[in-house]
Amino acid sequence: MPLTLKISQGTIDIPIEKYKGIALAVSGGIDSATLLYIMSEYIHENNLNTQIYALTVPNKTDSASGYHAQLVIEFVKRKFPVYIHHTIKSTIFDGGNKNAVIEKWVKELLLADKIQCEMNGVTANPKDPSFKFVQPKNPYVKPLIAREGKPKKYKRIGELDLHFPFANIDKQGISEITELKNITTKLLLITKSCTSPVYYHCGECWWCQERTWGFDIKYQQIQNRQEKTLPKTTQQKLHEKKMKLTKPTKDNILKI
Ligand SMILES: [Zn+2]
Repeated sequence: MPLTLKISQGTIDIPIEKYKGIALAVSGGIDSATLLYIMSEYIHENNLNTQIYALTVPNKTDSASGYHAQLVIEFVKRKFPVYIHHTIKSTIFDGGNKNAVIEKWVKELLLADKIQCEMNGVTANPKDPSFKFVQPKNPYVKPLIAREGKPKKYKRIGELDLHFPFANIDKQGISEITELKNITTKLLLITKSCTSPVYYHCGECWWCQERTWGFDIKYQQIQNRQEKTLPKTTQQKLHEKKMKLTKPTKDNILKI
């Protein structure tokens, strides 16, 4: 039985059981992290020997992706002890093309008979009109054209099966999956979507705006939780301070 997940945007089917080896580009972002998580959970729960080959290609616009991808893989492996072979091929210094690097790597694994399929965590652009992109003042990385329209969920190129399980799912759909699996907060903390070389989350670029939109409710919940979980002593101290300022004590009255 394939991996099946039902969410409000549709059904996600991933025929993992058909393959002995699967290639997956793990970018350090939340989409590929979610895909890696659900694949690994399925492999673990069904006691399969499937080998996952993960590749991260840091480039100039996401130089920290190798770090975030490692955090993701460590998290998933601790939760589900499955086989994940991780490779990092940086193009930061030689300016190489990311997609060309991934393509070459997949071809080599296919020729070596290590994989029969490639999974791709690409998601759809926001479907809901509530997403309103505000153009940043500085130059920014635009969304991929491949995410527009109705992309295919499956392709076969030569001997390789290519699956795009999230092709028709947008960021709100991804947040629905992470909520189902109870990993939203964890993934928001260890992944990075922003393309700014300076900030972890610049809040302005297309990817930041999409992420904030997709996970809006959760961001608010985290914020509220952080306020509520202040150590009791601090809360008490604040309360006492406030009381002192508003209600004069016996000492204050005497001083006056
Ligand atoms: Zn950003």
